Amino acid sequence: MTWFSFHGGHSGEFCAHAKGTLDEVVQRAIARGFTHYGLTEHVPRFRPEDLYPGEEDLGTDGLMRAFLAYANTAFALREQYEDRIELLIGFETETLPPGTWLKTMQTLRLSQPFDYIVGSSHDIDGRWVDYNPESTEALKSDLGGDEALHLAWFARLTDMVEELRPEVVGHIDLVRKFEPANFAFGKPALHAAERLLEAVKATGGILDVNSAPVRNGYGHAYPLPILLEMACRMGVGVTLGDDSHGPDTVGVGLEASLQAIIAAGYRTIRRLSRARGWENIPIDRVQPR
Ligand SMILES: [Zn+2]
Ligand SMILES: [Zn+2]
Repeated sequence: MTWFSFHGGHSGEFCAHAKGTLDEVVQRAIARGFTHYGLTEHVPRFRPEDLYPGEEDLGTDGLMRAFLAYANTAFALREQYEDRIELLIGFETETLPPGTWLKTMQTLRLSQPFDYIVGSSHDIDGRWVDYNPESTEALKSDLGGDEALHLAWFARLTDMVEELRPEVVGHIDLVRKFEPANFAFGKPALHAAERLLEAVKATGGILDVNSAPVRNGYGHAYPLPILLEMACRMGVGVTLGDDSHGPDTVGVGLEASLQAIIAAGYRTIRRLSRARGWENIPIDRVQPR
């Protein structure tokens, strides 16, 4: 049996909005039966206006130092626990700063021997889509409504995928984070999502099926079933991501993600190991050991 997550491992040691140490996160992953666990801390931000709340004291220089310390600690933990779990080490991107994000992410990627990256965006033109309902509503009305927001989101993500070519594409419908349980994308947005999925397939990427909404009370795992079914029909691969932000959230909600993947029609899930690269694992083998 094999149990894995390839988006998560944020910790309070290196991320102001997470909890615990990275060591505690890894120990919890071992205790919860993971055979492979991806560590993908957030990248630093390089402009003061792009700091997350709570990072004001650290500042942009402090974030860069924290990112370097994260990488050093992660590679040391991989050796320390190698007989109990395989740690895969990467990071979660931003599309920030606007204009220079691509070069910035590529430089970070080459700065360490990372195994892979999670290509994520949390903003449109430097404005967060996932911070709070009020700021997302304000962005929506400035862009011209729901449909305009969704089209801008999927177009932005498509550009990110085509330019950065990440191995894993993070939470592709994060833009609906604050929508009610009965939310559905309109037809134009679904067409835009289809173009995104074509880009993911063309660049050899796979989707992060991300359980954060399940544990946070925001409904279905990302992406919504209609998008997951579309991805399955198109032959786009998927993997599991717990998006853990401390030991308490390691593995939480992954069972729901697994059920969503099965319901969408998938028979295999992608897993990364350093010896064998990305492999298709039959779903009946995917469970905690
Ligand atoms: Zn985070
Ligand atoms: Zn994210």
